[in-house]
Amino acid sequence: IKNINKSYMMGEQPLHVLKDISLTVKKGEYLAILGPSGSGKSTLMNIIGCMDVMDSGSYHLDGVEIEKAKEQELTDIRNQKIGFIFQKYHLISTYNVLQNIVMPLLMRGMSLKEAQEASMDTIEMLGLKERINHKPNELSGGQQQRVAIARALVGRPTILLADEPTGALDVNSGKEVLKLFQNLNDMGNTIVMITHDLGVAKHAGRVVRIVDGEIFED
Ligand code: ADP
Ligand code: MG
Repeated sequence: IKNINKSYMMGEQPLHVLKDISLTVKKGEYLAILGPSGSGKSTLMNIIGCMDVMDSGSYHLDGVEIEKAKEQELTDIRNQKIGFIFQKYHLISTYNVLQNIVMPLLMRGMSLKEAQEASMDTIEMLGLKERINHKPNELSGGQQQRVAIARALVGRPTILLADEPTGALDVNSGKEVLKLFQNLNDMGNTIVMITHDLGVAKHAGRVVRIVDGEIFED
């Protein structure tokens, strides 16, 4: 991303949230974006995840000029290139674990059977095989986050984005998620994780600090 700006209108006043941010993430990197609450981390992450649009600047992801992409193209990019993990899991409560995990593959037009087969390795890696028929509310927070991570991984995205992935978890479940991220990065996955917690950020190979919408330290 290069010289990205983003403002929100607060009544009559524009609130300048991202100020000329430039950042390059290489394939295979594990990056943490560290900053206090309100510094613009989620806004930045939503732009990187193609879920929100910037006001100005450019963004190239895996050879695609995102700022020029049309809505349908962005939908495909979100489905194929991006794996998003949220603080609060964002699982579909009426679907069981398996249905939640295979969703990105069904959206690509795979049959349920194909999607299930393609997801099995990921489900096993995340230790969820015994839980596939459970609904999210029958799982612990740590298990729900593992389902969300599995859903983010099944489509083999170019980049894994995680917005405060341990923020809602107890200490042990948080450690488990960080260990998993380490393994995923060792396997070659590119990860960008947002956190306000230095102790969490230190798990990444590289830490970028954001303060008041600007990159302060890399
Ligand atoms: P962080 O994730 O670092 O806590 P955010 O990116 O969520 O920060 O928010 C940065 C700033 O932008 C905050 O002041 C927040 O209130 C404001 N903001 C975020 N989203 C919106 C929105 N949709 N409308 C107006 N202001 C917003
Ligand atoms: Mg946030």
